[in-house]
Amino acid sequence: MRNLRVCTRCIYDESVPAITFDEAGVCNYCRMHDDLDRRYPAGPEGERILRKMADEIRVAGRGKKYDCVVGVSGGCDSSFMLHKAVEMGLRPLAVHFDNTWNSPIATQNIYNLLDALGVDLFTLVVENEEYNDIYRAFLRAGLKDIEAPTDIALATTLYLAAEQHGVRYILEGHSFRTEGISPLGWLYMDGKFIESVHHRFGRVPMRSFPNLTFARFVRWAAWRNIKRIRPLWYLPYNKDAAKRLLAERYGWQWYGGHHLENRFTAFYHAYFMPRRAGIDQRLLGHAALVRSRQLERRTAMALMAEPPDCPPEIVAMVKKRLGFSEQEFAALMALPIADWRDFETYKPLFERLRPFFWVLMKLDRVPESFYLKFCRPMAQQGP
Ligand SMILES: [Zn+2]
Repeated sequence: MRNLRVCTRCIYDESVPAITFDEAGVCNYCRMHDDLDRRYPAGPEGERILRKMADEIRVAGRGKKYDCVVGVSGGCDSSFMLHKAVEMGLRPLAVHFDNTWNSPIATQNIYNLLDALGVDLFTLVVENEEYNDIYRAFLRAGLKDIEAPTDIALATTLYLAAEQHGVRYILEGHSFRTEGISPLGWLYMDGKFIESVHHRFGRVPMRSFPNLTFARFVRWAAWRNIKRIRPLWYLPYNKDAAKRLLAERYGWQWYGGHHLENRFTAFYHAYFMPRRAGIDQRLLGHAALVRSRQLERRTAMALMAEPPDCPPEIVAMVKKRLGFSEQEFAALMALPIADWRDFETYKPLFERLRPFFWVLMKLDRVPESFYLKFCRPMAQQGP
């Protein structure tokens, strides 16, 4: 175990990409948190902004069946976002991308919530064998960005639902206060990247996978004026309180670990990333909770000292569904790590069109985190 310098306020250490420390030993990610905290106030000012936001969404949705779409995974944050949307007097359409790896608890959570709130569901299910082949392609390529296809497909599904129903707002259940903002070095994703990895390593034609091509992205963000907003940024969002509320009101169940709502995501977080890349992504959430004073620094350190726990049946399921023998799987886990930059991506195009995306960011059409991560050259990365 190397002795790494640790931030004196959160629990980030020198292994985090682009980290720097000030004289007091506080890291730049903590400063970014404080900056966001000022720009996205959570108290009475946040409430006022949320009310105004809800008014605008209602006006834009007049005469339509729905006025916003909300992605649901059965997890805590997205479930709370849907609850909040209804509480704000909105008429959401819930949207789910089903990559066929959902855990039964997550599916039950989604249905309980929708029943109780009387919200309709738009689901896009990808063809099973095709999706497994995309996962196999990423693993064979030696990449660590194996959840990129799911993140991209969810973004596409949200846009598709919004376009189909003439909805102008996508509400994202993200909170920097509980989840943090992940450094670019941990996961890269874009539609071109997926196409390029699949082209080199995939075997089953990509038909049902909802990819986010550049043309679609621009059509939705610039032409159709679809906004992506994060209402939880204006709330003193507390994870434990949210879980309690969801359990009491909707019979929502906690599945016993972050991201365990989806079995491949659980494999990715608790098994693949720590073993393949030495990255334990619990660090992100735990550090965010420490910064927002929802978790004691000491407790967070103790939690991180426990190795990530992936139920063996999940690893067995990954091998079985992807059709890897023990030997094949072991060989894949031992491949040299490939770099996303060895594949074609939209990154050079995003960088060239930086002024265009700056305007879109100012209009809430793309999240600020997208602009910061994808439109700035790598040398300028980091908060
Ligand atoms: Zn820090």
